Amino acid sequence: MRIRTAALSLLAVALATTLVACDRQDPSAGNAAPATEATAEAAAPATASDTVHAFAIGSLQATALRDGTLSVPNDNAVFGVGRTPEEVAEVLAAAGQPTDVLHLGVQPLLVRTGDRVLLFDTGAGRNMGDGAGKLGESLAAAGVAPGEVTDIFISHAHGDHVGGLVDAQGALAFPNATVRMTAQEWDDLRTRGTAEGADPVQAALVAAITPKVETFAAGAELVPGVVQAVEATGHTVGHAAYRITSGSDSLLYVGDSMHHHVISVQRPEWTIAFDRDADAGRERRQALLGQLADSGERVYAVHFPFPGLGHIERQGDGLVWAAE
Ligand SMILES: [Zn+2]
Repeated sequence: MRIRTAALSLLAVALATTLVACDRQDPSAGNAAPATEATAEAAAPATASDTVHAFAIGSLQATALRDGTLSVPNDNAVFGVGRTPEEVAEVLAAAGQPTDVLHLGVQPLLVRTGDRVLLFDTGAGRNMGDGAGKLGESLAAAGVAPGEVTDIFISHAHGDHVGGLVDAQGALAFPNATVRMTAQEWDDLRTRGTAEGADPVQAALVAAITPKVETFAAGAELVPGVVQAVEATGHTVGHAAYRITSGSDSLLYVGDSMHHHVISVQRPEWTIAFDRDADAGRERRQALLGQLADSGERVYAVHFPFPGLGHIERQGDGLVWAAE
């Protein structure tokens, strides 16, 4: 069963009812509100194994937590803007993917270090229908109580990343956690959330998290020796990636620098409507993919198929996603 939502707000496509609905009011956003019918797809009942995926980053314990699945029609409203569905379908088919719909995972990341419990993004909360917003259940399956989370690192303030910061009643879902994001991203979110006529859901979110927010600048060392913010603007004005390090091992949490494991990687030059600034998003995506292919650094992609772990590899003249 699919639950249709007004649109994929989370990703800067204008939404009538979600947190990022206010993007419509931002003349710089460039989201001409494509009449997409992005859907949040209700997944089959999940087992523990496809809800929670534990892995190591050096000596750190990490866990991918499934929040849900989102689906976007292959109609060029979001992916391959300015191309044709046939062009997009050709790339999808060659990769063995469905050609009518593009599926995106949503999986926040949990990392334990010392006595701190770190959470990277928080999923959709109630913003995307019943197909997403399952972070609380996944967290429970991983044996973590919300009150144990000490630090939340937000890649950017779209509804599928910040929606899980609050519960169904609008209260803080992680009452003991500091909420960290770049100063630019917080300024943007707070401005929109406190503006006259602001979307009430977004306004409530901003009010709830304001006492908990701490901002940082790109490149900041956030947990010494463990978490560093990595400059990754483009998708939004203050979008950040995070490098998580343990000894000689590292992993880059790329946020929404890339969205689909085939289209974003194999055709990074194609415009994605989710990017607030299409050109900036494209430039960031192309540059980051090239860096990751050169370095071979391990990648955690929040929207790639669960659990979103893998590497970017060169294949011929192009790039491909190599899932672990
Ligand atoms: Zn997203």
